[in-house]
Amino acid sequence: LSDRLSGIFDKLTRRGALSEADVSEAMREVRRALLEADVALDVVKSFTDKVRTRAVGQEVVKSITPGQMVVKIVHDTLVETLGSDARPIDLVAPAPVPILMVGLQGSGKTTTTAKIARRLKERERKRVLMASLDTRRPAAMEQLKVLGEQNDVDTLPIVAGQSAVEIAKRALTAARLGGYDVVILDTAGRVTVDEGLMDEAAEVKRVTDPHEVLLVADALTGQDAVNTARAFDGRIGITGIVLTRVDGDGRGGAALSMRAVTGKPIKLMGVGEKADALEDFHPSRVADRILGMGDIVALVEKAAENFDAERAAKMAAKMGKGEFDLDDLAEQLKQMQKLGGMGGIMSLMPGMGKMKNQIAAAGLDDRFVKRQIAIISSMTKKERAKPAVIDAKRRKRIAAGSGTDVADVNKVLKTHRQMADMMKAMGKQKGGLMGALGGM
Ligand code: GDP
Ligand code: MG
Repeated sequence: LSDRLSGIFDKLTRRGALSEADVSEAMREVRRALLEADVALDVVKSFTDKVRTRAVGQEVVKSITPGQMVVKIVHDTLVETLGSDARPIDLVAPAPVPILMVGLQGSGKTTTTAKIARRLKERERKRVLMASLDTRRPAAMEQLKVLGEQNDVDTLPIVAGQSAVEIAKRALTAARLGGYDVVILDTAGRVTVDEGLMDEAAEVKRVTDPHEVLLVADALTGQDAVNTARAFDGRIGITGIVLTRVDGDGRGGAALSMRAVTGKPIKLMGVGEKADALEDFHPSRVADRILGMGDIVALVEKAAENFDAERAAKMAAKMGKGEFDLDDLAEQLKQMQKLGGMGGIMSLMPGMGKMKNQIAAAGLDDRFVKRQIAIISSMTKKERAKPAVIDAKRRKRIAAGSGTDVADVNKVLKTHRQMADMMKAMGKQKGGLMGALGGM
């Protein structure tokens, strides 16, 4: 994909920003790549719409081609959609923490149950009890027992003739009495989603109140996995997804679709039959796989750094001349968000303690940064360039437009005035604030 995208853009002359037409052409390629990667059609559509909105008008960094710039935006959006915030299993609950495993037969529930138990035991020193609620296939309980023995994890003793709900209750009691930290309930699956399966899983969920409900889904089943996820999440409610057989899936599309359709994070990936073949979910690796790109990511990262540096240098030059309008303030605020807040920036610079306090006093606290950006976005171009024209009436309109109060608008204007004065003063000193910002 990255080659094809670069190809499209190499034909174009550089024009500073990505145009609507450029992006539309690129989106056709992105769309094709996603469909080839087995991403669901409706997910492809909403994804390309999102990228298009972001990409049009984006300035292109000098050191990369527009094609690489689009790839970068596609990649970043993919990572974000896949869940850059994804966390592994959450055990923050009173012990024994119940985890319920659900999914279709053959998806890898039993194997994954053992993998998770082993991981929690080894990495987090947890005492784990596993219980098979699969009453339909006697071999299933035996399978979990063997896996427990192999991995030195306890399993609930098998008692014939109990229902899934009875076994679940017994497992919880045993875990409590036995002082276990975690109890993993491995349910039975059916070949397809059916009411009986859903009813049983829902009932087990009701009586055990699990802290995590993990849907185990086979990455190789592609679109079916997506439908399964939708069905289980709708009927039972899941907290996360474990994608199995990722070792055999070169395309990665199921991950994107499942995440987009359910909004639930992918927590872990099964990458083989062995008990240690379990990995944390890495959105950027999956994104790379979907896009079929290798080195381009590193290249584009580098370019993005240059991009920030170019912008900072441009701003430094402007400020040196004592120009600092509200667009510049908005730009600064956005940079701050990226760099982890004003505190972060200030701590990078020597001798900035006093200014840090001033800025805190001006309400430039991270919590307000978003709101301030919203206020500035509600201003007209003219207002941003010439804040002096913003009279009482305009302030009212801006406040209404950004869902804030006139007092908030006033605060932004005051911050701007203070920053502008500060920048002006610093701009006169060589290597002042902007020198420091430009160098970051
Ligand atoms: P269940 O019916 O959902 O409990 O599925 P099982 O745990 O019994 O797994 C079915 C088959 O899939 C077994 O042969 C497993 O070894 C295999 N399996 C499970 N997870 C993975 C995986 O991540 N990669 C590969 N290659 N095989 C897996
Ligand atoms: Mg099983």
